Amino acid sequence: MGFKIGEVAGIRIELHFTFIIIIIAILLMLLFFNPTGILAYSLFLFFLFGSVLFHELVHSIVATNRGMKVKKIILLPIGGIAFTEGLLKNPSDELRVAIAGPLFNFLLVIVALIVGQFLGIPFFIDFESIAKNNPLNMLIWINLILGVFNLMPALPLDGGRVARALLSRKIGELNATRAIIKFSLFFSAFLFIVGLLSANIIIAAVAVFLFFGAQQEREVVEIKHLLTKFSTKDAIVKPKMISSKATVAKAIENMVKEKTNYLIIKEKNSYKILTLGMLANSSKNASVKSIARELKTIDYKKPLSELFLTIIENSIPVVGVKKRGKLIGVVDINAIRLLAELSKIKE
Ligand SMILES: [Zn+2]
Repeated sequence: MGFKIGEVAGIRIELHFTFIIIIIAILLMLLFFNPTGILAYSLFLFFLFGSVLFHELVHSIVATNRGMKVKKIILLPIGGIAFTEGLLKNPSDELRVAIAGPLFNFLLVIVALIVGQFLGIPFFIDFESIAKNNPLNMLIWINLILGVFNLMPALPLDGGRVARALLSRKIGELNATRAIIKFSLFFSAFLFIVGLLSANIIIAAVAVFLFFGAQQEREVVEIKHLLTKFSTKDAIVKPKMISSKATVAKAIENMVKEKTNYLIIKEKNSYKILTLGMLANSSKNASVKSIARELKTIDYKKPLSELFLTIIENSIPVVGVKKRGKLIGVVDINAIRLLAELSKIKE
């Protein structure tokens, strides 16, 4: 759903399709109805893009400072998502990372207000005045709306994360997430109706995005808690291996035979993984070695819930399990889902 537009400090920056729609819609509207407004609206898009990008980068800086790894940022017209490894492990870190983004927007509003005061530019409250090409007011309104919207206590918004971290201290992470998800579903339904009534496709798309985002947040936390009844050892299976000298054609043959969607390659002392997705775009004669990626591994003593989060945060199907540095098996997402389902029945 996102298109890569660049990279900042090793973080992949993607533009979400709703952002692309808004750019195309505004440009088309300008071209046909209001060619004179092109400067003002280009400035609007530039400010919106910049504000969302910096909002996400501030999240990323705080996350990195707390020892987390940020892999990817997706920019939406209403904010964005920074894909951070290790967020769900510590509520107080999650709170810090979440609040940093909206705080940046509010700080920018304050600075812009002071600059405006200094330059004698009045702060307009009505939108007609903003449209009259007043860049500073445009910047203020964009950041005010971004800050307030993102602080709504709905998941997966920043406000939802802040609310969950605070509520977790009183009622635990699972119950806190459940309570906030209820509000999130109500909020996304409300937003969807607003989008329909105002014929605003962007608001409707954002509502749909929030709805599915909330469902995913719930699933992750529910499974994470069901898994506390099992250890990593319970989920281990023997890895399905393939020689590093094999070709893609051979790998496909093995996958059919083993009914698996991944294979593991041993190379000296390291392990690599080959998934269906990697095979799909490569020629049959290519060597598996050239397309395989490094296998993420975790120590066998680590809880199964942490292994599950590693799978989710990296969007990979399987994680290797090591004992004293040696690979003793793998755990895949299907085994985890199965254990979660079984422990639900047991309850
Ligand atoms: Zn944010």
